[in-house]
Amino acid sequence: MRSRDTNGNNYSFELFPPKTAEGMEKLVDTVERLNAVGPRYFSVTYGAGGSTRERTFETVSLLRRQGIDTAPHLSCIGSSRTEVLDILRHYREQDIHRIVALRGDLPSGMGAVTTGELRYANELVTFIREETGDAFHIEVAAYPEVHPQAPSAMRDLESFKRKVDAGADAAITQYFYNADAYFSFLDACERLDIRIPIVPGVMPITNYSRLARFSDACGAEIPRWVRKRLEGYGDDIESIREFGHQVVLGLCRRLIDQGAPGIHFYTMNQAAPTLRLWRDLGL
Ligand SMILES: Cc1cc2nc3c(=O)[nH]c(=O)nc-3n(C[C@H](O)[C@H](O)[C@H](O)COP(=O)(O)OP(=O)(O)OC[C@H]3O[C@@H](n4cnc5c(N)ncnc54)[C@H](O)[C@@H]3O)c2cc1C
Repeated sequence: MRSRDTNGNNYSFELFPPKTAEGMEKLVDTVERLNAVGPRYFSVTYGAGGSTRERTFETVSLLRRQGIDTAPHLSCIGSSRTEVLDILRHYREQDIHRIVALRGDLPSGMGAVTTGELRYANELVTFIREETGDAFHIEVAAYPEVHPQAPSAMRDLESFKRKVDAGADAAITQYFYNADAYFSFLDACERLDIRIPIVPGVMPITNYSRLARFSDACGAEIPRWVRKRLEGYGDDIESIREFGHQVVLGLCRRLIDQGAPGIHFYTMNQAAPTLRLWRDLGL
């Protein structure tokens, strides 16, 4: 029987692998501060097509050396089965039991979206189960505001169900600022008899232009009133941070009050914004 995180501490922190030695040094301190509050696990992103492979490995090793429960992300697009298997073997050697399984998005210039032997995340989940049985707790991505390439919300939901049927244990959502989208997504999942925990992904707001760029790319909607307020602050970083904190704190409170099974924080490798939310939520 696979482990199913249906209760208990489902609060996790996401990191990305730094590009420079200096960034890696800074990350040591960030990890220490974040780990001090006792999250369930840390996840580490992975550039599709293997573009961050070594840096992801290095970041994962940094966490494992401290005995931290670590969930490396693994995307299949642009990779062969042999490459995926190599990575899984590498993680098993490091006593890792958790994977975030994704299709990924190839950086522009690296080829078409269907490149590679495994085309979609459901195929990756099936492959991991076939090759490694229950060795990994598998998380997959979910999109309460619909994946940007999906032809319809229903088709996207069917794609999500395929990943669950292939053996995913839990899901983490794309970040969103409309709590209604999340709860409506949960209702739709229930109607399709999808029973795994679907943990909301939460992105602290600290920088408006970066957030607007990310959100356009990944299909996350910034509500008009939030966008207008953030725009209005211009270069006033302090006001952006303060307002952003209050917006995200309100979102997290509603998610928790209405029964979300936990929260996955997209930390962007910064400890302070996530720790402030953690403290104000009384986690
Ligand atoms: C929590 C989280 C973590 C992430 N981490 C990373 C990361 O580390 N690295 C990275 O590169 N990206 C990451 N991403 C981004 C993600 O890779 C992209 O959103 C990508 O476009 C889709 O990945 P997926 O696993 O959701 O794909 P899939 O579930 O395969 O879905 C992709 C699209 O194809 C459709 N689809 C799915 N299956 C089928 C099928 N069998 N036939 C036809 N259509 C289908 C879906 O509806 C959707 O539109 C992350 C996203 C989330 C939410």
